[in-house]
Amino acid sequence: MTLPFSKPPLTIRLCGPRGFCAGVDRAIQIVVLALKGYGAPVYVRHEIVHNRYVVEGLEAKGAVFVEELDEIPAEHRAQPVVFSAHGVPKSVPEDASARNLFYLDATCPLVSKVHKQAMRHQRLGRHVVLIGHAGHPEVIGTMGQLPDGSVSLVETVADVDLYQPVDPDNLGYVTQTTLSVDDTADVIARLHERFPNLTPPSADSICYATTNRQEAVKQAAHGCDLFIVVGAPNSSNSKRLVEVALRAGAAQSVLVQRAAEIDWQAIGDIRTVGLSAGASAPEVIVDEIIEAFRLRYDAKVELADTVEENEHFLVNRELRDIELTKSDMAWVNG
Ligand code: SF4
Repeated sequence: MTLPFSKPPLTIRLCGPRGFCAGVDRAIQIVVLALKGYGAPVYVRHEIVHNRYVVEGLEAKGAVFVEELDEIPAEHRAQPVVFSAHGVPKSVPEDASARNLFYLDATCPLVSKVHKQAMRHQRLGRHVVLIGHAGHPEVIGTMGQLPDGSVSLVETVADVDLYQPVDPDNLGYVTQTTLSVDDTADVIARLHERFPNLTPPSADSICYATTNRQEAVKQAAHGCDLFIVVGAPNSSNSKRLVEVALRAGAAQSVLVQRAAEIDWQAIGDIRTVGLSAGASAPEVIVDEIIEAFRLRYDAKVELADTVEENEHFLVNRELRDIELTKSDMAWVNG
């Protein structure tokens, strides 16, 4: 006698908040609105946000991604070029103006706030210590707000121990917006220990979205046999969520961009899965992953919400008269 196939039971702890933050939402809207208002092609300098699905979706609508402004053909110079949400060095808008390009800056307002705080330190004569990951576009953008030699980058407590400033009594710090809250607290504590006159920024540089997503994962991860974070390998805030899940007690934690990347063989015997998404990961992929689990398990979804987010950032003035409908964003929001 053949027994009817029965799927093993599974609980999916779905973290909230998760996925798109207000800065990412705004940046994608800017490209979508530019395409609606000005037609294709719309150039985008660097990935607008670190997510392949988003980049490919915008490419399909007529966006063209470039790494540098000189890649924009002369005949398309009247078309808009959008700067990514991570922010750009001051030299980039200057270069765009020199080339007579029409640019739309999609830098997240919270990254711009960090730029202003770094510039304030420098204006007041302080050497700026930037806590962040070398090579990340946001770090390149923040360093590029300041004259050469006026900023030093540290990533870890060990970097702080090796740091030898010219004037240890005249330092101010800022951080990248998407760092680990806990690791950064350790780095800041060591900076204060070594340099008691260190001046903090006027407000925390790690943004609300990073903080909230890490806190939600921290609360949900304990007891999870597996924790899945939807996000890209070059997404700083997504990678931090994987680390937070492991530290908070998840038995294993993986970063995936799509459901197809889940290694079902390697997962083993699982009863509880945590699920979250980095700030640049679309909700449609979260849905796709839940569906993939439902195909294999008798899955029930348990909401693990911490706080409600109501942040919303306005798009650039030039785009505010162009109508944005729900269907314009359905490809990412579901
Ligand atoms: S993660 Fe934070 S700083 Fe980055 S785009 Fe989102 S809200 Fe802005």
